[in-house]
Amino acid sequence: MCKRYWSLLLALVLLLSACDLLPDLMGGASRGISETSIWAMDTQMDLQLYGDTDGAVMTELTSLLNALDRELSVTSDGSALYALNEGGETDNETILKLASKAKDVSALSGGALDITLYPASLAWGFTTHNYRVVPAEELEALRDKVGMEKITISDGKLRIPAGTMLDLGALAKGYAADCCRAKMEAAGISGILSLGGNLQTVGTKPDGEDWIVGLQDPENPAGFCLTLKFPGSKAAVSSGDYQRFFQRDEIRYCHILDPKTLAPVQGSLRAVTVIADEGLYADALSTALFVMGREAGEAFWRQQGDFQAVWIEADGRVFVTPELKSRVLEGSFEVIDP
Ligand code: AMP
Ligand code: MG
Repeated sequence: MCKRYWSLLLALVLLLSACDLLPDLMGGASRGISETSIWAMDTQMDLQLYGDTDGAVMTELTSLLNALDRELSVTSDGSALYALNEGGETDNETILKLASKAKDVSALSGGALDITLYPASLAWGFTTHNYRVVPAEELEALRDKVGMEKITISDGKLRIPAGTMLDLGALAKGYAADCCRAKMEAAGISGILSLGGNLQTVGTKPDGEDWIVGLQDPENPAGFCLTLKFPGSKAAVSSGDYQRFFQRDEIRYCHILDPKTLAPVQGSLRAVTVIADEGLYADALSTALFVMGREAGEAFWRQQGDFQAVWIEADGRVFVTPELKSRVLEGSFEVIDP
């Protein structure tokens, strides 16, 4: 089945479950709920707002998401990121902000997050869909283009050497969710946003109930392996091997690359979800934790302590950080040691 169809189906199921939407669908408009779906940043985005009576905030959000898409697209030749990858220098504030955060999280995570992997992603075919298994010597030849130390930021400018290219796909949607949240909060509007693998709750539901968020089951992405409840604004960002991948000789090659090998991560994890206050941080971490694997990720959580996480293993076991125990509504899980 084509990916776009899956995304649409999935987004619908997510919203139905994540927002207790079934009763709302039968009287949404009269209860002040508005919904819109757009395609931006290479994914289906579903926005559901409460109390945006004249549609002004929804219009602002969709313009914002489309503008970020135009600014940060790695493939469109009009984008600021494309210009950086061609010209080696930028003063674009969004790129500087995201690259700075990536540098921080990369340093914290022992290099698991690396936004310079784009030449390797291209070789594996992840942007063109011309998938192939890249020979080791070809990956070795890419080494001198890759590495976070290639990025220098000073005097309000970011610079990269010729041949190095940045890809902000690991954290751009988290940043987009933060921007949407800020606009909604300023306008006093609550709601839930599903930006691909990024769920963002904003404000308090008008009925005072918690938001309900479903985490996709990697074995059956139309279903959930865990549902969680949260009050207020939170980012819940998932990275996994089921989102974008190809298969050769029974081996699954996913879109998240290990900076140590420049090859798709091959571990026992199927997915990780990070729950945090800031979408940008949660998104950067979700990718890093997927690369690190569960054990290193657990140690990282103990060291950082400023996020919650859910790990889903290939054998179906689900592990959660202790604070999430009381937040689970449905699904079986084990709690990791504090
Ligand atoms: P996410 O879905 O947030 O985990 O981001 C995955 C996307 O980030 C991929 O589609 C690539 O564009 C990019 N990417 C892949 N591997 C890495 C990595 N180790 N560090 C940073 N970005 C990556
Ligand atoms: Mg991410």
